[in-house]
Amino acid sequence: MSGPHMAVPDQLLFGLIGYPVSHSLSPAVFNAAFKAGGLKARYDLYPVPPAGLEREVGRLLDLGIRGFNVTLPHKTAVLPLMQVVEDSARMTGAVNTVQVTPAGLVGHNTDMGGFSDSFGPLGVPDVSGAAALVLGAGGAARAVAAALGLMGVGKIVIANRFTRETDALIRDVAPGFPGVRFQSVSLDPAAVAEAAEDAVLCVQATSLGLGTRDPLPVDPAILPGDCYVYDLVYGIGETAFVRGARALGLEAADGKELLLRQAVRNYALWLGEEAPLEAMRTGMEEEIARGGSNGEGTPEAP
Ligand code: NDP
Repeated sequence: MSGPHMAVPDQLLFGLIGYPVSHSLSPAVFNAAFKAGGLKARYDLYPVPPAGLEREVGRLLDLGIRGFNVTLPHKTAVLPLMQVVEDSARMTGAVNTVQVTPAGLVGHNTDMGGFSDSFGPLGVPDVSGAAALVLGAGGAARAVAAALGLMGVGKIVIANRFTRETDALIRDVAPGFPGVRFQSVSLDPAAVAEAAEDAVLCVQATSLGLGTRDPLPVDPAILPGDCYVYDLVYGIGETAFVRGARALGLEAADGKELLLRQAVRNYALWLGEEAPLEAMRTGMEEEIARGGSNGEGTPEAP
């Protein structure tokens, strides 16, 4: 891989690598922030299939990129490319934000802090000592599990299609939280319902919902009646999982607040100053009003 700062572009370059990324709202969020701050800076999308990760990171460094976000499916795969792994990335085993510094690439996980930051604004219930259900075991689920651990959750049930990923998540994240009971189940509805019968929070952290024809990971009807449903996926309107939960009278939110809150943390890391949250929110909302995302209400990547 090439060294950092190979080129000196006439504006600060930032961006998102992942697959898919095409309809992410992050450019609207960050470009609104740069405009509000009068910065000569730009945030672009870089679609990178799984096999092309290292080559693309090298190319971005050659372009002189100052920092970038990482989304599915690269959040764990990008970790070995970091010269410095910050605590948030170490605790989760996943990187969603990279700083390009003279010392090399510094990997952070701002999904973790951004998730916690979103609880107050969204009115998510206090989870200390309580049980929570996490659907999915990828990079986002790792950040959620660590954030819940830091909040003092009593039990985390991880429900995923393949146990290999669940085992890896528990192996990497659980040692940091000896007071939390981690339990693993498949996505079988009866198994999830039984394991999560006392859950006060259900976090939907699979990538299901990114496509309009995606099935739901589980039917929200199996969740306890007072469970708060938090879908990390977002779209122009409600995601199907949020819609299903609300139809049952459950409180629910999609991933837009998380998108904003992790972006606020990224901005501060990259630019060393407080992010203009309201300008970022307005940028996101204007993009949605313009029919952003994919223009049809389909949820997309961060
Ligand atoms: P990963 O690729 O790391 O993980 C994907 C997860 O989805 C895995 O648990 C995987 O299960 C599961 N999954 C994929 N396809 C299916 C399927 N057909 N049936 C059941 N489970 C499936 O992605 P991330 O963890 O990085 O992201 C997950 C989601 O969270 C994405 O939609 C992303 O956009 C969203 N997100 C939103 C953020 C925001 O700011 N709002 C921030 C971070 C993430 P398996 O292991 O069995 O393959």
